[in-house]
Amino acid sequence: MKALFLTAIGKTEVREIEIPIPGPDEILLRIGMVGFCGGDLNGFKGLFELQEYPNILGHEVGGTIEEIGLNVPENFKIGMKATVYPYLNCGKCISCRKERFNACQDNKTMGVRRPGAMTKYIAIHWKNLFLSEKLSLQELALAEPLTVGFHASARGRVEKKDIVAVIGCGIVGIGAIAAAVNSGAEVIAVDIDESKMEIVKKIGAKHFINTSNQNLHKELIRITNGDGPDVMIEAVGSAETYRAAVEEVAYTGRVVCIGYAKSPVEFNTGLFVRKEIEILGSRNCTDEFPTVIAYLETGKFPVDDVISKVISIDEAGHALADWAKNSQGITKILVDLDK
Ligand SMILES: [Zn+2]
Ligand SMILES: [Zn+2]
Repeated sequence: MKALFLTAIGKTEVREIEIPIPGPDEILLRIGMVGFCGGDLNGFKGLFELQEYPNILGHEVGGTIEEIGLNVPENFKIGMKATVYPYLNCGKCISCRKERFNACQDNKTMGVRRPGAMTKYIAIHWKNLFLSEKLSLQELALAEPLTVGFHASARGRVEKKDIVAVIGCGIVGIGAIAAAVNSGAEVIAVDIDESKMEIVKKIGAKHFINTSNQNLHKELIRITNGDGPDVMIEAVGSAETYRAAVEEVAYTGRVVCIGYAKSPVEFNTGLFVRKEIEILGSRNCTDEFPTVIAYLETGKFPVDDVISKVISIDEAGHALADWAKNSQGITKILVDLDK
């Protein structure tokens, strides 16, 4: 069967690999849809320090159960659709000992530090599958990046009385917006791409600031009556947006960091002290998969609007290279393994 490898920085290759044989605790999942992640893009560009080469890409998965190992519980049945929990923690490090598995020091995400799912079949432990009878394979492939955004909102302890600004409306930022809206917060979405406005409004963001032609500070001050947002969620990973998150957050507010900045960022640390802000890192997800699946099952999420294109595995390498050249207008590229 074909598999898409990231062989080196800027290089991909479709190679032939063997169909895996599932162990007693494993399920053979027939892969339908796999999303390209911002992490894949950074791995392609050589900007993701954890990326290992060569490696099969893919950790955002929608698939169908094809075969079941002997020890797998009975609620898993052939033909059921599922998405994949793609992280693997070590169980020994301090994060794991504190049951903060998502922040494992030796975490191995599929497609990053072990083989991913951009291929026809994977064998996977049943504990790492989340089932849904209602969702399509496309929707299931969107679950993982949305859980990362939902986790960021949880880290920010977003609640009803909050005004939350999310900088960056990629799929992770969109997940954070959806979660904050679900918590009853008033949400301000920020991006430089006007095409994101319609999407985030459908999800329930009340305001959209296009920083390519609007002043972020002025707009935030106007919307929040001079206070600044209670929570700023940084989902871009640039020095400018990181600094903006700290500068714009209200006194006593919370800043949540999901974006991976590519180089060190300089801060006026006086702001940390004077405003007594909390700065919270947010990595991967914890228990958000069932929440996100339930959210997607409501049908409220504008699935078609966030899927920018669906391509075959043979087209995937080119699509990744094109995305690296120009990310404008792209929210999510899906690879259809049946194409
Ligand atoms: Zn991802
Ligand atoms: Zn660990």
